[in-house]
Amino acid sequence: MNAIILRSGRDKAAKHRHPWIFSGAIQEVIGNPTNGETIEVLDSKKEFLGMAAYSPFSQIRARFWTFKKEPINIDFFKKRFLFAFQKRKDFQKYSTDTAWRMIHGESDMIPGLIVDRYNDILVLQILSSGVEFHRDIIISALRDVTGIDNIYERSDVDVRRLEGLAERNTLVSGVVPEEINIIECDLKFIVKVTTGQKTGFYLDQRDNRKISSKFFMDKDVLNVFSFTGGFSVYAVHHKAKSVISIDSSKSATEIAKKNLEINGLDGANCEWLVEDAFKALRTMRDQDRKFDVVVLDPPKFAATQAQVERASRGYKDINLLGFKLLNPGGTLITFSCSGGISESLFQKIVADAALDAGVTSSIVEKLNQGPDHPIGLNFPEGAYLKGLICKID
Ligand code: SAH
Repeated sequence: MNAIILRSGRDKAAKHRHPWIFSGAIQEVIGNPTNGETIEVLDSKKEFLGMAAYSPFSQIRARFWTFKKEPINIDFFKKRFLFAFQKRKDFQKYSTDTAWRMIHGESDMIPGLIVDRYNDILVLQILSSGVEFHRDIIISALRDVTGIDNIYERSDVDVRRLEGLAERNTLVSGVVPEEINIIECDLKFIVKVTTGQKTGFYLDQRDNRKISSKFFMDKDVLNVFSFTGGFSVYAVHHKAKSVISIDSSKSATEIAKKNLEINGLDGANCEWLVEDAFKALRTMRDQDRKFDVVVLDPPKFAATQAQVERASRGYKDINLLGFKLLNPGGTLITFSCSGGISESLFQKIVADAALDAGVTSSIVEKLNQGPDHPIGLNFPEGAYLKGLICKID
């Protein structure tokens, strides 16, 4: 069997069951594994460590499937799926929501596979060559375990290039309409599975939308980076006085407006700005506009460690503007979904922003990704979404 041998002293992460093996940790490749093929991982004394997927084009040269000697076949994936679904059962059984992340890559021990469920449709995203290599049996296993045949693949993301894979956006099987309606917290949302951002909806913010709702009643709300209006719909539903939403995407904003309508909510006190958020916030600051609540949920500013410094400036910039636009007693609900920005760094950036804005502020709630986006204890990198609800004096 093909194998890799790790360098002496470079097997610590593997022994702590971290799923990634970086190229620098590899002493020798035995055999001639192709992209995504299963290999054995051995330590420098040739002791077995686990089974992994080989990824010759990536700095993450291999990803562990398992730390046991077992075949990586359809039964293996079925078993993994059942574990993942079991993990979600406890909180799903109390919910009427119809959309969930079912498989969350490394944290569900299937590195590089994302599966989101929207009603009776599964949307998968393949981010690693290992999952790509086993694509057919993974799809069969998914079908068998869920009984769902409506499957769409949204692997049209540029990180696939790092794995030597081309982008793909395709119907796998069954019927997947262009637009579907999901339910979250008894509210309806339109999801465009085939053309929307991500796999169609930001499921990771579900709990944070709910938690934020208690701050909206009778308030003037500014929702920045509003996408299809998640926080805006919650704000109107929870009786905000007015809601201004800003997003650079026209198509997302069109859906946001429809989302209000399909929930029977009155959009009379809503304004939708299709603009660059940085520019719009500066204009509002110059006009001395004020709000009671500002929500900041920007896209990922730092995809890699190298981009952290630039990303930090971006976060500082919008949070500074956010604080400046608040009335006394106001609430800033602010997020970062950049894996490279740690929770403590994010808190520091927000603290610096408050300082520069000349406000005194404290955190009243700390927020994370929802429980259907678990964080493997062996994979701290999985904790990518963090949020702070800050009140100012
Ligand atoms: N809060 C949303 C998710 C936001 S995702 C929800 O709960 O569903 C980030 C959004 O930022 C995307 O909709 C994207 O279109 C938007 N965006 C990215 N860059 C932007 C910019 N410079 N100005 C305004 N919006 C931007």
